[in-house]
Amino acid sequence: FLFPSALVLAFVMLTFAVPVPLPETEANQDDLQYAKEYLKQFYNFSATDVRGRLGNPFAKMIKTMQIFFGLKITGKLDTDTMEMMKKPRCGVPDIGAYTIFAGRPKWLKNTLTYRIKNYTPDLSHSEVEQAIQMAFKVWSDVTPLRFIKVSTGTADILILFASRYHGDNFPFDGPSKVLAHAFTPGPGIGGDTHFDKDEKWSTNWKGINLFLVAAHEFGHALGLDHSSDPNALMYPTYKYANPVDYHLPPDDVQGIQALYGKAT
Ligand SMILES: [Zn+2]
Ligand SMILES: [Zn+2]
Repeated sequence: FLFPSALVLAFVMLTFAVPVPLPETEANQDDLQYAKEYLKQFYNFSATDVRGRLGNPFAKMIKTMQIFFGLKITGKLDTDTMEMMKKPRCGVPDIGAYTIFAGRPKWLKNTLTYRIKNYTPDLSHSEVEQAIQMAFKVWSDVTPLRFIKVSTGTADILILFASRYHGDNFPFDGPSKVLAHAFTPGPGIGGDTHFDKDEKWSTNWKGINLFLVAAHEFGHALGLDHSSDPNALMYPTYKYANPVDYHLPPDDVQGIQALYGKAT
């Protein structure tokens, strides 16, 4: 009986024959959905925007994102744009940061306290503490800011690791994509820094380097927004750099010194 195998073959051929290749400019539905979520999360894009005389707001938001990242401005979900959207990154939006207070908030004192509320199971307590201390040093090296670790009570900057929903309006998303977020300076949750517990945290090039992400997040906790400079620490996506001998890039030095002045 050849019939069953012929049927299977026919089925296989049908399965592979059905998808018609999309024109190069047209994104598939998964990418479209992904991009909408991305723009909603990081570019203040609302899917309910009225398609008015100004044109398609979705294409406009893609262009805004492409300008921010220094990509070719096509207004379309091309390969470079999708690749950028899928890179692991910071959870703080590129447009419209987690603003608690109007204006540009900064700390009104130079000595700040921090407290590590809990730890990641990926590293020892001393490895976490060292990475955090090194990350603060990146900023204190170029400003009059000083950071003091406290073990109990309230601290200006509360540091914690959490999964998914964790008490603020910005749930984490499991492994990859969003790695961490931090709030702009201020009382209460202001300055607090949260790391996604579902990442594989490391002290080297494997997984996600805690020092590098912490240094970036503390930039937000001190009042900096994302930078469009691909070499800046405050660029939104994660890129590995050797933590040993790390120096704050010029764009970030300029940004933080504009807020707090130079090291004394
Ligand atoms: Zn960030
Ligand atoms: Zn959070």
